Amino acid sequence: MLRLLDFVVDALIPQDCFLCGAPAAGRAICTACEAELPGAPAQACPCCAVPVASGGRCGECLQHPPAFDSTVALFAFAFPVDRMVHALKYRHRLGLADYFAAVALRRGLPPDIDMVLPMPLHPARLAERGFNQSVEIARPLARALGVGLELSALKRVRNIPTQSGLSREERQRNVRGAFDSATDLRGRRVLVLDDVMTTGATLGEAARILKRRGAERVDNLVIARTPPPG
Ligand SMILES: [Zn+2]
Ligand SMILES: [Zn+2]
Repeated sequence: MLRLLDFVVDALIPQDCFLCGAPAAGRAICTACEAELPGAPAQACPCCAVPVASGGRCGECLQHPPAFDSTVALFAFAFPVDRMVHALKYRHRLGLADYFAAVALRRGLPPDIDMVLPMPLHPARLAERGFNQSVEIARPLARALGVGLELSALKRVRNIPTQSGLSREERQRNVRGAFDSATDLRGRRVLVLDDVMTTGATLGEAARILKRRGAERVDNLVIARTPPPG
């Protein structure tokens, strides 16, 4: 009951800055706090968004090209972006979804996208949590881009056990069979939206399935990218 009340209050009352509490003119994050957010690296691999010393793909993407074509990460997954993602996910701070969508539009996205496809949750997890944070970010984004919001082309059919501590081969095995698709995507250019990209194995498997259905391009937009291991 309290959680429901929280949700209703959050939805009805214009929020001050989520981080410092200062008035933010209807935005989730004030200008001063925004300037302090941990940005994406100045030079990032265009394919998987990890920091690189010079332009071009990182060694990992050169050696083992993932099924997706590119990744834009808005932020590094560090304080306080981790708190913002958590608040959207578990406390339904929907103003943050609009905020992330606005940052993505300012940042620039791959051209000629046909659809925005939020990373699906497993139905059991969706039922437990009540909403999919990626859908909430993708919705205003698709509207602003004037493209479709695609909610049925990719289905999560299996939950993915934790990926931490696994080797690349083990992670790939771990995500096999996580998704299914029965949609004809021939010639379509898909923007997949996910909140946090850690190893890229889940996004890689999603892209593999979308391309198997004929997708011409699969580009990723992630709110935050964790630094590469080691
Ligand atoms: Zn602030
Ligand atoms: Zn890379």
